[in-house]
Amino acid sequence: MSPKSAPDIVLIGAGIMSATLGVLLKELQPELTIEIFERLDIIAGESSDAWNNAGTGHSAFCELNYTPEKNGNIEIGKAIKIAESFEVSKEFWSFLVQEGCVKSPETFIQSVPHMSFVWGENNVQYLKKRQQLLEANNLFKGMEYSEDPAVLKQWIPLVMEGRDASEKVAATRMEAGTDINFGALTRALIGHLQKQEGVQVHLKHEVRDLDREEDGRWYLKVKNLETGKKRKLHTRFVFIGAGGGSLPLLVKSDIPEGKGFGGFPVSGQWLVCKNPAIVEKHAAKVYGKASVGAPPMSVPHLDTRVIDGKKALLFGPYAGFSTKFLKNGSWLDLPKSIKFNNIRPMLAAGLDNLPLTKYLIDQVRQSPEERLEALQAFLPEAKMEDWELEVAGQRVQVIKKDPEHVGILEFGTEVVSAADGSIAALLGASPGASTAVSIMLELLERCFPKMLATPAWQNKLRQMIPSYGQKLAENPTLLEQVRTWSNAVLQLKK
Ligand SMILES: Cc1cc2nc3c(=O)[nH]c(=O)nc-3n(C[C@H](O)[C@H](O)[C@H](O)COP(=O)(O)OP(=O)(O)OC[C@H]3O[C@@H](n4cnc5c(N)ncnc54)[C@H](O)[C@@H]3O)c2cc1C
Repeated sequence: MSPKSAPDIVLIGAGIMSATLGVLLKELQPELTIEIFERLDIIAGESSDAWNNAGTGHSAFCELNYTPEKNGNIEIGKAIKIAESFEVSKEFWSFLVQEGCVKSPETFIQSVPHMSFVWGENNVQYLKKRQQLLEANNLFKGMEYSEDPAVLKQWIPLVMEGRDASEKVAATRMEAGTDINFGALTRALIGHLQKQEGVQVHLKHEVRDLDREEDGRWYLKVKNLETGKKRKLHTRFVFIGAGGGSLPLLVKSDIPEGKGFGGFPVSGQWLVCKNPAIVEKHAAKVYGKASVGAPPMSVPHLDTRVIDGKKALLFGPYAGFSTKFLKNGSWLDLPKSIKFNNIRPMLAAGLDNLPLTKYLIDQVRQSPEERLEALQAFLPEAKMEDWELEVAGQRVQVIKKDPEHVGILEFGTEVVSAADGSIAALLGASPGASTAVSIMLELLERCFPKMLATPAWQNKLRQMIPSYGQKLAENPTLLEQVRTWSNAVLQLKK
């Protein structure tokens, strides 16, 4: 049966966010009709593609920017929230694997130890304190710490090879870390949706405009990029999961909640190792400390990846500036996004973030020799001939109004929704895909509060996510139960 011409739900964009929301909604309310529109000819072709992101299952095991030091104190609140959210994602994926909705967990998730590696006395002291604080919390149990070169050589031989023995270094290691192919996961989720009654996925279809009708429904204009034909359709609920393309659509929706938002694009590049002997010698995701002025998402890391069954080694990201909001976007994206209602917050955020602008300009102007230098801080013996530069995905950081600063630049994600819950957009990028399930649960709370309160939805949510509604950091027994279950189903190490 083909879906109604006025589907219950329209999802714009076929990335991990729309895929997650689509599966959640269909599990909660199987009779819903859903149409997904994607401007590219493939699913997960933008940020969710494996080569466009770092594939880190962000659980705050290794990312030092989630545990900032302020006035000598290390704050771990954000790390706890992210670690909990990642467990929620693992629970949902385990449910889907167990139910047979997503086959073979190894096609999208692998155990890869998460490590932080620092050098210099102050950084070593910070890392030691961080490990002691985190290890006391059950979410981070098992986090090892060492300053011993012999131990570090075992953990990360390549990073220690050729290193100055007088340099003070330290590392932490979490065996429970993961590498995720979000592209493969997105395709599996959308593949599962496509098999169900009432779901249609339209590739090469771009949503061009959307307006609210007097009866509260949304009226969308969609262009078939292959035939040039235009289609108009109505729906009661729209999710703008268009990644970098979300901001322009949110502006077009004209909802008051979307006013004043702006976007600041940050592009990325990786060095990808092309020497299989080097790739084989490394088995961890090793995160360092961001340099001064660097945005949190450009913390350098050396990543073992497993993409389509093949091991790879990536270093980066090297940040850069581009006016495009999508990798496959237009150079006019940024200028076209500047409107009367967001120009003040955008200018204010720009002035407040001059060190970031300088950092991005320096990054863009980096020579291959300077890039090699950054790599050699991790791999002292690295040679340029073993690496090649690849373009990563595009992120659009959120700029929003702020009573004190007029406008601020944010590095997280932000769900923006209309008061009546008929439309929601996801802006921002980090920690992004890893916490997609928690982000979409927040969206359900905002947009479907009545349905969410029903016993049917509550029971189903607890079936899919056994820890739903509870804080894993405060419940060690529950954490142990859900971790044991999800690690077993996803075939992960403890
Ligand atoms: C360099 C980099 C490294 C990252 N590393 C990590 C990491 O290690 N771990 C992690 O968890 N997250 C990471 N992220 C973030 C993560 O990739 C994103 O949070 C996630 O992929 C966003 O998914 P999405 O579905 O919102 O967007 P996307 O995957 O970008 O999907 C949006 C889709 O919408 C489509 N679209 C846009 N406009 C329209 C339109 N008008 N009509 C129809 N379709 C449209 C696009 O073509 C695209 O396919 C990283 C991101 C980048 C860029």
